[in-house]
Amino acid sequence: MPEVTRPFDRENAGHDAVAVSAAAHEPDSLVAMPPPHSVWAAILRGLKGRCPRCNGARLFRKFLKPVDTCPACGQDWTPQRADDFPAYVSILVTGHVMAPVIIGLVQETQLPVWALATIAVTLALLLIIATLQPAKGGIIAMQWWFEMHGFQRDKPETRETIDEPVPEHLK
Ligand SMILES: [Zn+2]
Repeated sequence: MPEVTRPFDRENAGHDAVAVSAAAHEPDSLVAMPPPHSVWAAILRGLKGRCPRCNGARLFRKFLKPVDTCPACGQDWTPQRADDFPAYVSILVTGHVMAPVIIGLVQETQLPVWALATIAVTLALLLIIATLQPAKGGIIAMQWWFEMHGFQRDKPETRETIDEPVPEHLK
């Protein structure tokens, strides 16, 4: 005997289907946190190479290549225009760190010039490489926060509306 679906069952099945399809869009392996409350919180996430919007996934797929879309929250990162600004920040930081180091090496050691130059250049290169990605992450976070270059930053109300429990009469 074929199974008969009563209207009441069908209605429930419909709601279940909606719930399942909504759950399918929720990435369960990646934990998305609420949006940051300030530009500094967003920049901090970017500095750590995390998604500035949700902190739930990596912002970069390669050394200086950001992901197109966040796998945790779906944020589109293609509008970012960091260009060569990260390089300026990186050089500025490296210069300020290296200046006292070079002065110290020259004053406190009797190393020959070639050794001093080798140490200074190696340290400077390492510092630049170490600071480039954090600088780019922070700049992308800032551009997103201030909605530059076509970024659309979601307002907290939007998330609350989505997460709102289903009213009793609609269950
Ligand atoms: Zn995200």
